Amino acid sequence: MGFNFAVEHKPGPLNRATDALTRRSDAALQLAAISHPTPLLLEAIRQEHQTTVELQQLSQKIIAGQMMSHWFMLDHIILYKRRIYILPASPLVLQILSAYHDSAHEGLQKMGQWICSDFYWAGLRSHVVEYVVACLIYQCYKADHLSPAGVL
Ligand SMILES: [Zn+2]
Repeated sequence: MGFNFAVEHKPGPLNRATDALTRRSDAALQLAAISHPTPLLLEAIRQEHQTTVELQQLSQKIIAGQMMSHWFMLDHIILYKRRIYILPASPLVLQILSAYHDSAHEGLQKMGQWICSDFYWAGLRSHVVEYVVACLIYQCYKADHLSPAGVL
């Protein structure tokens, strides 16, 4: 079996498009991606999942096969639909919002997408809205997403 293809070098600025191989979405890769910029946060999550009674009970049910199929355990962390599960009242909620917002002060849409792709907790969207709206830097410098008004 032979292949007929050409390898083409693209210098950095021209090499922007991602291919299908770089878009794998399995949970292990997601955890690896999260653990790279914020290893302390991931360790805090793992710690909470191992020491909080409610989460210990949940993980035991998952391991025993008593939960529906979208619950998984990965490296002592509870995943729900391939996202890290967080208790809504956990102090980690604020840490996560801070980790995802405070460096770039992104707006609601990007923040929502980023956090929703990595985490799940009840009320996540409203927490994102509250956090971003309360950020004074975001309020002062947010870009106007409306098209410029035309000539009247
Ligand atoms: Zn901000």
